[in-house]
Amino acid sequence: MKVLLKTKKKYLFIGILITVLLLAAIYFTGIWELRSGLPFASQLARAGRGLNRYEIQAEFNPDAKTLKCSQRVEYINRTANHFTHLYFHLYPNSYRYENKPVFEKNDMELAYPKGFSPGMLEMDNILIDGEPADFVIGGYSENILMLILRGSLAPGEKAVIEMDYRVVLPYCMGRFGYGDNMYKAVNWYPIACVYDENGWNLDPYHIIGDPFYSDTANYRVWIQAPAGYEIAATGDMAGRREEEDYVIWEFDAPAVRDFAFLAGNRYQAASQKIGKTTVTSYYFTENAGLKALDYAAQALAYFNEAFGEYPYPRFNLVESDFYIGGMEYPCLIMLDHNLYERSESDWLEMVTVHETAHQWWYGLVGNNQITDAWLDEGLTEYSTVLYYGHRYGQEKEEEVYKNLIGEGKYKNLQYIFSSDDIDETIHRPVHEFPNWSVYDLLVYGKGAMLFHSLREEIGDELFFKSLQLYFRENCFKNAGKEDIIKAFNQITGKDWQQHFDRWLYEHE
Ligand SMILES: [Zn+2]
Repeated sequence: MKVLLKTKKKYLFIGILITVLLLAAIYFTGIWELRSGLPFASQLARAGRGLNRYEIQAEFNPDAKTLKCSQRVEYINRTANHFTHLYFHLYPNSYRYENKPVFEKNDMELAYPKGFSPGMLEMDNILIDGEPADFVIGGYSENILMLILRGSLAPGEKAVIEMDYRVVLPYCMGRFGYGDNMYKAVNWYPIACVYDENGWNLDPYHIIGDPFYSDTANYRVWIQAPAGYEIAATGDMAGRREEEDYVIWEFDAPAVRDFAFLAGNRYQAASQKIGKTTVTSYYFTENAGLKALDYAAQALAYFNEAFGEYPYPRFNLVESDFYIGGMEYPCLIMLDHNLYERSESDWLEMVTVHETAHQWWYGLVGNNQITDAWLDEGLTEYSTVLYYGHRYGQEKEEEVYKNLIGEGKYKNLQYIFSSDDIDETIHRPVHEFPNWSVYDLLVYGKGAMLFHSLREEIGDELFFKSLQLYFRENCFKNAGKEDIIKAFNQITGKDWQQHFDRWLYEHE
């Protein structure tokens, strides 16, 4: 009896041990995650493992139009090379000089309706691993920070960089700055330059395109703002502490490629839940603000189904003092408030859907937006066409494609610029396009036509499977031309290299 009992206990113990080991194996190999679809937090924490980490404390002063910041970056050398220097973009300095503007000449009045207003980042102090650092600020408009390391940073090693700086916001209707209704802290803090097969990418803030290129990283940001201000930001709100006359907002944003926030003291907000994501529209113009919410929510639901699930708990769309339509940031898009005032036209819907599609093509699957803008813009434009087909049927889709997006844009602009006069290469760096209109014609118009031609050739089933594979394989990473071709090749069993090259480099 005793023995039997002992044996039973022993078996029980072995049973428990096996169960524990099995559960541990399942947890650590990620099988459980695949089966159960983990909550966002775990999925994003997994995606963020081994990535750089930014912690930023920003004191937002709307009277002085400044952000006083302390930033800590855990920078990990994820390459096979030893680094002797590290580089960061200081994008606010691109707004510093009137004679080096980030807008085309004809747009200067739209960008600066009250005359030129300078924006900048003033660096106070930098420590690397606790020691005062040697650094140089240079490049066009002093928008690159070079840190000189004392030794070298070996592959896999980490450096902790601490910086104190002040950001001055310009009165500007471009991406960065403030207007009469709100503040735009976008491309506002020192962000690490990307090191890839071409080495360090130290591009300036070009006038044409969205001249950004970044790696996915983890962010924790605290913003101290006066009471009464609403803040829409990248990531999830991790806390909100009210002090006497100010509020400290805390945002947690794992596995995103940038962090942006927009602030204002007049915003109304409305939300809708799509799957596991809360979509929130911040607006001044109620009727249009609710319409924009509907467009973004429907687009998010459709793209979830068409490309793969959006993994973030929040997606915010914000009516903004901005003259260029819309602009995408991770989990956050800003939308030109002029679109809200003319919300009966198709444009509010089209721009909202376009910027929502960028959450997949730019946000989740990144690319070098200076050299490969066609990849995210072409796909994003074509995703907008797909949304119209899904929501309103084929007739509307064709109408939009033939008149406004893709072929429509290409033909309309060709009418202005005789096509014989322009080099039709889509795949070239943003600064090699003569102006925004030609860039628009080729990167947006012809870029979307490239994807339309693929869909025509292979049919919907293989087309969507290819995009789903491209999304899955490149999510949280940066992709290039070869990655998208690989996805189409793999799904169809054919080689699409020549097809892509014909569209990207030849005359139509
Ligand atoms: Zn775009």
